[in-house]
Amino acid sequence: MPLVAITPLTQDCYEKIWNKFTDCTFLIHEDSIEELKNIFKFKANTFYSNPIRRLEKIKDYQKTEILSLKGMAIKLLLDGQMGGWIGNKNSRVQTFFFSDVIDSLDDTISDPKAFSHILIENMTTKIDTYNKLLTPNNGILTIDISKILPYWGHHNIDKSLFSEMKKMEIKVLPDNELIEMFVDQPAATRRDSYHYHMLKKEKVDLILVGDANYKNNICPCENCSSYKCEIYILKDDARKKLLGLL
Ligand SMILES: [Zn+2]
Repeated sequence: MPLVAITPLTQDCYEKIWNKFTDCTFLIHEDSIEELKNIFKFKANTFYSNPIRRLEKIKDYQKTEILSLKGMAIKLLLDGQMGGWIGNKNSRVQTFFFSDVIDSLDDTISDPKAFSHILIENMTTKIDTYNKLLTPNNGILTIDISKILPYWGHHNIDKSLFSEMKKMEIKVLPDNELIEMFVDQPAATRRDSYHYHMLKKEKVDLILVGDANYKNNICPCENCSSYKCEIYILKDDARKKLLGLL
């Protein structure tokens, strides 16, 4: 995720890959890509889970002096499901992802129906772009920082990151195990364990993780326990430095 959309871990992820792990071959399994693509597939299609359903409601609002259409759109985005980090289908994640789309709309659009129509069209385009960035070509995912999408916001990264234009390639491998192996694990950690297990089965030398508590999610099977590899935990120091939080 930090490679295709701006998150607090984006800067460390790019810098480590460009500077420290330059000669490595990068791998990812199909299920990891599928998990990322699922974030913006709104299967439930309800007001609470699908931000597009919520933003259709703008059509019914009359513009008031209290709040602009953009202000209303942000409130509707936030007014969804609060929990549910599994699959990231919560309104906080959705607001980070779509607030830029709201912001980019022309301020002169005053008709709620037109506003809603253009907004939903642009949200759908952003989801399509995100999915295309995660679609491999001949088994290779090409990462190009100039195509990174706004998500958590540019205050999380130093702009000098964009002066480096090296593209990177990640091999997308077929899943080498069935997720059913992890059926007894809690749903929240099942998929992480599955991904660690598949990477260790490939005998990788290094795993990049975005979760400081990754040890709780590592697969406990005998093969994984006996295979040791380096784990690098991505850090959000760049964001903290930019915001004066260090
Ligand atoms: Zn395992």
